Amino acid sequence: MSTIAAISTAIGNAGIGIIRMSGENTFEIIRKIFKPKKTDFKIEANTINYGYIVEENKVIDEVLVSFFKAPKSFTTEDMCEINSHGGAIVMNEILELCLKNGATLAEPGEFTKRAFLNGRIDLSQAEAIIDVINAKTEKEAKASIKQLEGGLSQELGKIKAEIMEIMVDIEASIDYPEYDVEEVTNDRALKTLENIKTELKGLEKTFNNGKLIKEGIKAAIIGKPNAGKSSLLNAIVKEDRAIVTEYEGTTRDTIEEFIQIDGIPLKIIDTAGIRNTDNEVEKIGINKAKEMAEEADLIIFIIDASKELEDEDKEILELIKKKQAIILLNKTDLKLKITKNDLEGICKDKPIITISALKKEGIEQIYETISNMYKFNKIEIDESLTITNNRHKQAIRNMIENVEKAIKSINEKMPIDVISVHIIECLNEIGQVTGESLSEDIINEIFKKFCLGK
Ligand code: GDP
Repeated sequence: MSTIAAISTAIGNAGIGIIRMSGENTFEIIRKIFKPKKTDFKIEANTINYGYIVEENKVIDEVLVSFFKAPKSFTTEDMCEINSHGGAIVMNEILELCLKNGATLAEPGEFTKRAFLNGRIDLSQAEAIIDVINAKTEKEAKASIKQLEGGLSQELGKIKAEIMEIMVDIEASIDYPEYDVEEVTNDRALKTLENIKTELKGLEKTFNNGKLIKEGIKAAIIGKPNAGKSSLLNAIVKEDRAIVTEYEGTTRDTIEEFIQIDGIPLKIIDTAGIRNTDNEVEKIGINKAKEMAEEADLIIFIIDASKELEDEDKEILELIKKKQAIILLNKTDLKLKITKNDLEGICKDKPIITISALKKEGIEQIYETISNMYKFNKIEIDESLTITNNRHKQAIRNMIENVEKAIKSINEKMPIDVISVHIIECLNEIGQVTGESLSEDIINEIFKKFCLGK
């Protein structure tokens, strides 16, 4: 394979930056551009070497270069990492020099792709690397590290071994029909398949938390114009991102913010005021708000408690009846016209919190309520494997479906080769997760999501 090079650290003015190279000509290239300080310098595996990157005797930077020899490297190829100063100019000059001397520019994710193609990690581990890099919270990073360590690969490897055993039994029954082994084969297969089903169902269940950890909760702030939606968002994010205004209906589009509650990301969407209106522009905003409320996992309905409850508020309460929602009585710093008691009759099962968005009072209570609602504190990912990737969940669901079909075929005394079709399909699904039975196109798509130099 060709020798690739890329800058692996983010571009900016940092203390150090890393330029990485991998491939069979790595050491040949580095010999041309690296002038070591040590007189008896030799390229040795797992060493860090002090010196200079030079071009025609001109020093480009003072560096530390580490060497990794095949197959004991991230990609399993000969590799080096040049630790230079973290300036964009210097890092680009060093990269250019590597390219001039025979390396080609790595594509995004190409180092990891090589690690996968060379068999050092499977696809689920490669995907975990993207997730570790992109993790928004500590919990998400932890779940991804577990997967990177090979948690999912091991679990599926075990299931694969069990399925292979069934396949061997089935083959034997087909090859030696004169020995009446089919009955025994079916009994054993049934037992194993039931166990596999239980294991897979357990894995599938972890996705509920996995989705929460990775994607968080989509919460929409809805309420009539002037109820205090933008002020609430400001109080929540503690910065003036949303425009607060004294005129009604100006927040026509939506604003989104990410916050973290007990390690779970909460994506907050501020919507335009919900109100019956003839104004065309406002109507668009309102439809959007209704749409967002429909899509959201959680609705935060904010009411201006300094005014009487209007029919519109009741309409919104009706709209959110069947949804996960919390109700905020805002502007408690003013004289109140609506109290908790007034609302309790209308929406019995929804938490009602009094706040003052302006004075930033009651905000902590909103966090606590949301955290308790979803039992965030109970989500522990230290011990067990958690599925966070939609692709993996889908594959696991397909595995379960095929295992169930195989069980059904056995119970219905179908011919043994019908059973094996479902079992082979299940193996194929395992291969989709590990990458063994994925088409090159899909694999390329997955690696495109990586950043440069990884
Ligand atoms: P939105 O239209 O729902 O986004 O409402 P805004 O956040 O723009 O608020 C409308 C008006 O109500 C602004 O003048 C805010 O300063 C005011 N406001 C918002 N929250 C409070 C509050 O808790 N107390 C008081 N007194 N005024 C508030």
